[in-house]
Amino acid sequence: MQLFGSSGTRGVVGEGLSPEFVLRIAKAAGTAWSADSVFIARDTRTSGEMLANAAASGLASVGVDVDRLGTAPTPAAVRYADVYGRPGLVITASHNPPEYNGVKLVGADGVELGVDRLERIEERILSEEFSIATWDAVGTVSRVDSANREYVADLLAAVDREAIAAADLTVALDPGHGAGALTSPDFFRRLGCEVVTVNATPDGFFPGRQPEPVASRLDDLRTLVTAADADVGIAHDGDADRAVFVDEAGEFVAGEASLAALAAAELDTGDTTVAAVNVSQRLVDVCERVGADLELTPIGSTNIISRIRELRADGKRVPIAGEGNGGVFFPNYRLVRDGAYAGAKLLELVAERPVSELVAPYTDYENVRLDLAYETDAELDAMLDAARAFAASAAADPDTKDGYRLDYGDAWVLVRPSGTEPKVRIYAEARDADRARSLAEEIAEPIRAALENARAE
Ligand code: MG
Repeated sequence: MQLFGSSGTRGVVGEGLSPEFVLRIAKAAGTAWSADSVFIARDTRTSGEMLANAAASGLASVGVDVDRLGTAPTPAAVRYADVYGRPGLVITASHNPPEYNGVKLVGADGVELGVDRLERIEERILSEEFSIATWDAVGTVSRVDSANREYVADLLAAVDREAIAAADLTVALDPGHGAGALTSPDFFRRLGCEVVTVNATPDGFFPGRQPEPVASRLDDLRTLVTAADADVGIAHDGDADRAVFVDEAGEFVAGEASLAALAAAELDTGDTTVAAVNVSQRLVDVCERVGADLELTPIGSTNIISRIRELRADGKRVPIAGEGNGGVFFPNYRLVRDGAYAGAKLLELVAERPVSELVAPYTDYENVRLDLAYETDAELDAMLDAARAFAASAAADPDTKDGYRLDYGDAWVLVRPSGTEPKVRIYAEARDADRARSLAEEIAEPIRAALENARAE
């Protein structure tokens, strides 16, 4: 696909991403979807209203009525699609910096569009096949202000509200000036928690912190947890489909560790979970212990969604899935990553035990990453050939869905070209630092040699 990646389309506003482009996406989607009405939601970015206006014009011009939801978390927009059976566009760049924006397309079934359906819309954008309406058939645009309220009501009904309220928890919340600022403080208060907040005003300039909730940006949340003597800190990204955590002592919890803790609570013997090929050994170990199957997909959340749907169609139980970046699916609730729901699922566990105890089994893992830079396609090909040869002769099962992943039982290594830079990346993880480093070096050696040979030619 030229226009859409595995999570929609993203770009810098004023450079790659323009209202004209969003207008064309909306015309194409409005033409392709057999829907009388389509919704538009957005996150808090400064360019959100401008791009939503372009999307509304595009949809109305192909004769489709438009529900303008205003600023709403992606999971609130997806819920709207699901409940009202209408597709829509979410104007968001998720965790990317403030100058970015983008478009996610959601189907009338309440699931982000997969690669097939995105390709069909992309073809229509490129060929400019739009069903332009005549003057008496253009769509009408209405404001809908209930999407966030209904979303919070749904969330409250979907979690163990009594257990959480009875535990008298204090929650420190950092919505990062994103769309979650409009819903999460209210949600966690109504769960019976005392809620203290930082960066909880919606603000497209993101003055307190950038949208991606990584450890280096969560010092204020960690301080707040300590100052307020909170039981947990919860941070979202710009569209609030992710939740990352800080424990009761103010320590950042790696996303891989919180995913493993949530999975350990959710998975039973015979269940299946889905993750991408860079999945942590922590989730591998949880699956091994409980007797659950782990299915891997290429990196990208739409790949995980597609696999979950296939498995469920085959009658498999998939109670949890996700990635180590704080994006967790609970498919029995809804097939979307939902930061507020994931936060509440952790609170159900925190009602019994402190966060530090919940994640303790998953903190002692060592990750190694090596980056090997190349200059030409011939060099890249030679490096990947070497990786393939190594994988074929290794004493481990190779997974080749996206690069080469070798699982050794207690450890794994992954070789994969970066999607954004001219580098081949090697990842390894084990409980033991030396083991992780030696696995990474072992596969790096023939790849480096291949690179040098290719350079000498
Ligand atoms: Mg996001």
